[in-house]
Amino acid sequence: MRIVVLADIHSNMEALSAVLADAREDGPVDEVWCLGDIVGYGPDPVACIDAILGMNHVSVAGNHDLASAGKVSLADFNPYAAATFRWTASQLSPVQILHMANLPLRIERYPFTLVHGSPRDPIWEYLLSLDEAQACFDHFTTPYCLVGHSHIPSIFRHGKEAVKMPLGTLFPLGKERLIINPGSIGQPRDGDPRASYAIYHQGKLRHLPSGRELPGAPPGTLRLLCYPKEDYSRRAAGVPGGALAVRAVA
Ligand code: ZN
Repeated sequence: MRIVVLADIHSNMEALSAVLADAREDGPVDEVWCLGDIVGYGPDPVACIDAILGMNHVSVAGNHDLASAGKVSLADFNPYAAATFRWTASQLSPVQILHMANLPLRIERYPFTLVHGSPRDPIWEYLLSLDEAQACFDHFTTPYCLVGHSHIPSIFRHGKEAVKMPLGTLFPLGKERLIINPGSIGQPRDGDPRASYAIYHQGKLRHLPSGRELPGAPPGTLRLLCYPKEDYSRRAAGVPGGALAVRAVA
């Protein structure tokens, strides 16, 4: 099984298209795991939802997905995000809104648990600190947990310090329990504007810059990917609240 792990797409179809093309260059994608926030901020909510639905996939709900479907209060969001929800909801079909409203909060695909925020609070908790992450290891039973939401690629190790996804180094998944964030497709917040995603294959992760630029990328990677951002930025600037989307990929 060759599995592509996507998080925080945020209606950025340019980034999603580039990532899917990149993932398919090394071989067929058997399954896509989506860690939530397909929509919000960016200009292509319809296309991004359709792209995910058109693949063999599982998805958990993100806070932006539920807000766009009218399932959580807009008062809990920053002004940029709140501004996009009404516009995003106006773009979606009733079937798409129903789909977003009924996404599960947690999925187990052994050896992983999939959530958006954290296994303790799947919708709202940002895992940014070591203390927060350590407290979450009691809230899932599989060896590893995949999270999104913070938009920062990272690995939290049970009982040890956190590590940034090591560039160019294989990260084998062994006996150590881990919480892993593959980073954001459409709106990075770690200062690197490239799209970030993971491929899970043969029990290893590897972090590479700009996937296509390095020959012989092995299976089992976390990749950062450059893509043409001009079209996206121009169209995102036209979305209510889209300034944050433009800034994230600048
Ligand atoms: Zn997000």
